[in-house]
Amino acid sequence: MTRESDCDVLIVGGGPAGLSAGIFTARAGLDTLLVTDGDPILRRNAHLENYPGFPAGVNSHRLLELMGEQADRAGCDRREGRVVDLQQSNGGFVAETEDGGQVTAGTVVAATKNTVDFLAGIDGVEILDHGKEFVATDDRGRTGVAGLYAAGRLAAQPHQAIIVAGHGATVGVTLIEDSDEEFYHDWVTPEGYFTGRGRELPPGCEEIDADEREGREAESVAAMQEWFAAPHPEGPQQHPSVRDDE
Ligand SMILES: Cc1cc2nc3c(=O)[nH]c(=O)nc-3n(C[C@H](O)[C@H](O)[C@H](O)COP(=O)(O)OP(=O)(O)OC[C@H]3O[C@@H](n4cnc5c(N)ncnc54)[C@H](O)[C@@H]3O)c2cc1C
Repeated sequence: MTRESDCDVLIVGGGPAGLSAGIFTARAGLDTLLVTDGDPILRRNAHLENYPGFPAGVNSHRLLELMGEQADRAGCDRREGRVVDLQQSNGGFVAETEDGGQVTAGTVVAATKNTVDFLAGIDGVEILDHGKEFVATDDRGRTGVAGLYAAGRLAAQPHQAIIVAGHGATVGVTLIEDSDEEFYHDWVTPEGYFTGRGRELPPGCEEIDADEREGREAESVAAMQEWFAAPHPEGPQQHPSVRDDE
């Protein structure tokens, strides 16, 4: 990581892959900025029925809002903006946005589905053309360029929301492991789970007592009741090429 960077981690793209990566890197204490422009493709879904945890399915807009809220709570800074260029600089990266702004970052997670144009200035990124463009990575999302990762559909992951979200989490954890940040598993455990067995509390883990656990559960119950108090006002976004016959 470069000390002068605006952030430790720049995530480009705010779909399930990017949001999920940001939740993990921000929770690990890495200064994380997510820049996204345009709609995640999941908004075209009509009713999301294969995302574990929602037995009767969930409105995809709602799921994205929940992921965004979780990223915010984790401390991930989210901004609207289109990244049009990325260059290696000073041991890290500098991204240029469409409005002429610049963001410097120690590491970058690209999570832009099939958008690869902004990566053209980086030597060593292998673009795969399978009709649409993807970025070649190892099985943990590393591109082969130190500090640059690709997550989700962009990394040629299967085209399901849970898989790209899981891959975003994998990439976030990989980035943490590759960084200087101490990391274990990002677990919240009952009081004494580690210390009651004479073990040090591992980095990135938390033990909470019964009162704290009940408080957190009450907060989560209240929050979810509010999020799901009424149907989401928005339905699916239709594909732009589908004609609207009037
Ligand atoms: C009609 C439809 C229905 C679907 N139904 C299901 C379903 O039922 N179940 C299921 O599991 N999956 C479904 N999917 C698939 C699922 O939505 C995708 O696999 C998943 O959302 C991909 O996530 P991602 O984070 O990789 O990319 P995306 O969600 O597309 O996120 C990428 C984000 O990056 C932004 N971006 C791109 N370029 C830039 C740039 N240069 N700078 C800044 N931001 C940028 C994009 O605007 C976008 O917001 C469906 C998809 C479609 C199209």
